[in-house]
This record gives sequence, structure tokens and C-alpha cells, in this order.
Amino acid sequence: MTNQEIPKAAYAVVGGSGTLSSNFPAGLPDEDVEIISDNMHFETPYGMSPAMRLFRVGKKRVLTVRMHGWRSGVTRADASRQVFWTFREAGVRRIISEGGVGTVNKLLDLRDFIVPDDYLDLSVRKDVMLDGRYLLIMRDALCPELRQALIRATKKRFTGRVFTRGTYAVTDGRHFESPAEVAMMNGHADIVGQSIAPEVYLAREIGACYAGLYFTVNYGEGIREKWSHEDMSNIFYDDAPMIGEIIIETIRQVNADERHCECRELRKETLLKDVYNEVSSKG
Ligand SMILES: [Zn+2]
Repeated sequence: MTNQEIPKAAYAVVGGSGTLSSNFPAGLPDEDVEIISDNMHFETPYGMSPAMRLFRVGKKRVLTVRMHGWRSGVTRADASRQVFWTFREAGVRRIISEGGVGTVNKLLDLRDFIVPDDYLDLSVRKDVMLDGRYLLIMRDALCPELRQALIRATKKRFTGRVFTRGTYAVTDGRHFESPAEVAMMNGHADIVGQSIAPEVYLAREIGACYAGLYFTVNYGEGIREKWSHEDMSNIFYDDAPMIGEIIIETIRQVNADERHCECRELRKETLLKDVYNEVSSKG
């Protein structure tokens, strides 16, 4: 169904491969979590939004979208803009993401959890923005406050290894990386995946905090022995409920009204606006 009215929500979850198989947040044994509205689509300047779900954790209202809103027939750039345009209209201020990643750092094993503190954008989607009003400063692009909450919630629930920092290299996909590409990243990044960018730019543009929880599902080519597709799918299915619980706990722990981070201040009105207007008015 199409809803013209975008509901208010201060929190959002950009679901990735971790929650995909769990119908998040349905099925979590938690009385305080309730789905308010489901399968909502909204008109945006970039086309119809992907299906979104609105739920609550206590009194906190959360919008969520599966697999970043990516779907066939829609470019990832447009899918991302549809999602973040809707988040802006809803008043979203805190965004949590999750997903499976490949290893680049030799020290990582399968099923390690990482809450990265930086990223390296090797994708070529550089022009993905909403209205380009802001100069985006990408210092602390992954909100330190939201990261701390994610780390606490993960350690509370997960007994394996949790890495509290690391660099996420972003590639375009959909294919994985070649051994030479992984070798090039080694020393510059710890994990590799296909999300974070452009999401991190769009989050900053709308003044929202963004952070994510990532778990290793395969070894980067050439890093270790061959990995099996069976291992990867087992991790997806086994860990999905736990990842959902960690995200819910993180939402409980953070406040969208009181933010003790710089995320809002790290976007500045662009100085190039007048230049662009002048150029376009002269044709
Ligand atoms: Zn923040």
C-alpha cells in the first residue's frame, strides 16, 4: 500500500544481511517491542520508497528497511536516496546498520564482530546526495556515541570476539573482491563490504548519527584458506535473532533528544552554493 503520510520516528535501522532472515523485529521475545505499521511505501523525489516497517521499543519509534532498500530495477544510488529522504521527513536522528563483511586483516576469524570507527570508500558512487546544501565533514563519520552503545550491547549478548574499532573498505559489488584487490586494501582497512557508503554521507547530510555492527562471514581472497558458502549461510541464519536483540538493546540505551556527539555540527552550509547558482543562471 502507498502511504502519503510519513510517520514520525527518531530512530532508524538500516537492515543488512544479519537481520534479513529473522523478519526483524518480529519474533523477538520482547513485550516492549511492537510493530505499529508494516509494508509502507512513500512517494519520494527519487521514486517510490522500498517497503518500510514502523515499530516501537518502549516509547521510541523506529523505522526500518530491509537490505538498505536495495532491490532489482532500482539503482543503489536511488534506493539510498529514497530511504534517507524518507528518514529526513520522519525526523530520524539515530541510525543503526548491520551486515556481513569479508576479512582483510589477517587477525580476524569468521564470526568476529566489529564496530568500525572509520571507512575507506573505494566505490565510485561519489555523487549520491539529496540536495547538496551541505559541505560534509567526514571526521567521526561513524557516531562515537552510537558506537559505544552498540559495543556495550554486543558485549552483553555475544561471548565471542568484539572489535571496538576498525576500518571498513567499501566496494561497489555485487561481486566480491579479487586477491589483488584484497592485498591492496591490506594495511589500510580491516574488513570489506558493500554498504556504509553512500549511507554514511546521506546520514550526515540529514544531520543524523550513523553507526553499524558488522560480523565476518568470509575471508578476503588470498587472506586465508578458501571459505565455504555453507559457513556463510550458517552465520546468516544462526546469528540473525541475536543481532536483532543487540540492535533493540542499543536503541534502548541511546537517546535521540540528547546527543553528546558532533554529528550535527559536522555538516556546514556549502560555500559553493552561490557559485553554482551563478553558473547555472548564466547557462
Ligand atoms: Zn552522533
